[in-house]
Amino acid sequence: MVSGTILAGVAIIPAQAAALADAFVSGQMEKDRRGAAKKKKKRRLRQKCSKCGEGPHRNDAIYCWSCGELLD
Ligand SMILES: [Zn+2]
Repeated sequence: MVSGTILAGVAIIPAQAAALADAFVSGQMEKDRRGAAKKKKKRRLRQKCSKCGEGPHRNDAIYCWSCGELLD
């Protein structure tokens, strides 16, 4: 009787854990997709330096590689 309960627990808990992990992963992927779309819009503005006009810069650049000016 006790071993039956233990066996049921062992069988059910991993199934629940897998469902939980699955829900977490798909939720995370949804977040990543939205984040990537957001970043893409911002990145277009970072191509040319407003101070010295140097460009193009790396898409993830924050500062100008030529004069060090903060890119908008
Ligand atoms: Zn510059």
